[in-house]
Amino acid sequence: MNKKAALLRKDRVTRVLTADGRMRVAAVKNSQCARNAQQRHELDAASAAILAQALAAATLLASFMKGEERVIVEASGAGAVQNVLAEAIQVGEVRGYVHHRGVEGAAQDRRAPPLIGPGRFKVSRILYDHPAPSVGIVELASGDFAEQFGSYLSQSEQIPSAVRFEVTQDQDGNIVESAGVLVQVMPGWESTDPGLLQDMVAAVPSLCEVLAVERPAALLERVVAAPFTILADKRVDFFCRCSLQRFTRALTALPLGDLEDMRKLGQNELVCHFCNARYTISDSDFDHLIERIRKSAASVTN
Ligand SMILES: [Zn+2]
Repeated sequence: MNKKAALLRKDRVTRVLTADGRMRVAAVKNSQCARNAQQRHELDAASAAILAQALAAATLLASFMKGEERVIVEASGAGAVQNVLAEAIQVGEVRGYVHHRGVEGAAQDRRAPPLIGPGRFKVSRILYDHPAPSVGIVELASGDFAEQFGSYLSQSEQIPSAVRFEVTQDQDGNIVESAGVLVQVMPGWESTDPGLLQDMVAAVPSLCEVLAVERPAALLERVVAAPFTILADKRVDFFCRCSLQRFTRALTALPLGDLEDMRKLGQNELVCHFCNARYTISDSDFDHLIERIRKSAASVTN
């Protein structure tokens, strides 16, 4: 594989601002992230397609944020998919999971991922200089993931937006490519015709086909079709910061009785929701933890 082809295979998100300051636009290729997520969580076709879109949505929103500010995109409802959650930070990390009630019927038609709604769509941002997360929630009647995300942006954040996701899968339902594009009007330009935004995200017949041979920046040239400045252009990876150390630290926050019960019941395996990594706490680790908590409780009492 030549160097250009190898680079094109990497996931990447690019954010631009139009030269007239009217719109910000971001495009993401997140094929490897989506494949990685499908393999880690052992997902069927429909669930993998929903999670691929949620990962793309979080990555697009994170691209408008700063440094290690985080965004969490979550959709939950009464459909086959109970909930899907993706968390991203601007530096290019994204992780997520999906829970489904049973998707046998939905999995038969991979072109139509199961509906999440009726339910709710929630976006939380953990921002610098804000003591509490900024949370927006919208109740939704129905719709596919892109429709729900679009409704959320216009209703909760009141930013005229257009969004499009595209996921391709092979005959066995494995993710081949995943991509997304988000167009948002900047403050002061709210009177912009919404049809213009829709036309922009529909500018190319297939996002994935363009991104198979070009970088997101080249896709954006066709989407925006006007002069723009690239504000960020970053690699993206499915990455989870969990570790045995972090899990062990979390265990020390549990009541002593809970820890003793876990030890007694042989609950030595801890699983990370976000990435499905499994960590084993040995019996002697449990004993050390229990001993440490007992000692600190005793020192507080004394
Ligand atoms: Zn993890």
